[in-house]
Amino acid sequence: MRILLVEDDAALADELARALRAENFAVDVANNGEDGGHLGMTERYDAAVLDLGLPVRDGLSVLQSWRAEGNALPVLILTARDGWSEKVAGFKAGADDYLIKPFRVQEVVMRLRALVRRATGHAATRIACGPLVYDAQLGNFELDGLPLRLTAFEWRVLSTLVLRKDSVVERGELLDRVYEYDADVDSNSLEVIVGRLRRKIGAAMIETVRGRGYCLRNAGGEDAGG
Ligand code: CA
Repeated sequence: MRILLVEDDAALADELARALRAENFAVDVANNGEDGGHLGMTERYDAAVLDLGLPVRDGLSVLQSWRAEGNALPVLILTARDGWSEKVAGFKAGADDYLIKPFRVQEVVMRLRALVRRATGHAATRIACGPLVYDAQLGNFELDGLPLRLTAFEWRVLSTLVLRKDSVVERGELLDRVYEYDADVDSNSLEVIVGRLRRKIGAAMIETVRGRGYCLRNAGGEDAGG
């Protein structure tokens, strides 16, 4: 999963980016509305955190142009004060959720996970695929009822696949959701990550769809309870 963070307060942007990366998300940071607006239209993200008061171009205008161009990216807006009119304007422009500064960074993480879960069409927080269970609100995986330890890259791949289980996720899309904008990506690095995941959860769980991408499915029958 990959998050776009548009925030001009450098200290806050840094704190948020660090908190999100600690929860395994890939994060791209833009410090003005122009760059943020552009990234939101040209790169693939699972959600965006958008400050309203931004230099060059304000957050409301960024959000309006995304929606006008058909971009359905889930957006959490940040507002500087508890102003009713600012919130209304944000929702009118197409925001999905908002937070008033100051806030706890962990609340941003929880709200983003909820936005991504809803945007991918999951009502329940626990998503099961055979012996594998993903808690979409806590961001944790279990395998056969035991916690599954994953690196950040493994988590980004597996969370993307489990949210779309039984569907093929194209290779290019998976790469977009795993790597940050300035990442140095080897041509076979995705295959290496998938190989490591297969050793952890069972090779049959991740199917290679030749020429297209990967599909997480339960080859072995019933899904774990949840
Ligand atoms: Ca600001």
